[in-house]
Amino acid sequence: MPKVNEKFVCKLEDIIKNTTLRDDSLQNALNFVAFLRKHNIIGKGTHGQVKIDNVEYQWSDPVDNDVINPVDKYTVMGAWVEIFCKTTSICFLSLDPNKDTAPWTFWPVGEYDVDYDNIPICEQTKIIAQQNAKICTLCDDKCTAAKPKAIFGETFDKVCIFHMEFIDPIAETLECIQSLMLMKNELICR
Ligand SMILES: [Zn+2]
Repeated sequence: MPKVNEKFVCKLEDIIKNTTLRDDSLQNALNFVAFLRKHNIIGKGTHGQVKIDNVEYQWSDPVDNDVINPVDKYTVMGAWVEIFCKTTSICFLSLDPNKDTAPWTFWPVGEYDVDYDNIPICEQTKIIAQQNAKICTLCDDKCTAAKPKAIFGETFDKVCIFHMEFIDPIAETLECIQSLMLMKNELICR
């Protein structure tokens, strides 16, 4: 094991597999990452923190010739992940399987308030996105700027720094999230 504050390198999938996530929550989280890999959306710079056997490590997804740390012998108690596409931060994940309420949570970065040319977003995706609007309940200091924001044409008051929050998404909700990530990826790759 690397020492505290040293870089812990392993694939995001292996982090997820070695948490205590179970059943649909586990499968949906793995499916989501598989989708991002398939579309080359997980890029260099993807990093975060992992808590392994009660010790926090700086984690990053392997690139190039990185030496990979074995994580399969340990239990990941939790993780905080920021995913980069190219050089742009596109979403955050929290893996907190020890909490009954939120085994994993997803937050997309940025604005999702308009239709973009040539990127069709289906009505069901827009509705699910709106249903998961993140209304600030004074969650932390970063959200003092909570303000009215539109999500695909519907305006909500007091929206957090992350406009949406998806807690333990079911398969149908995952399709929405994946559409949002494809849209972001296309914008970044143009
Ligand atoms: Zn907030």
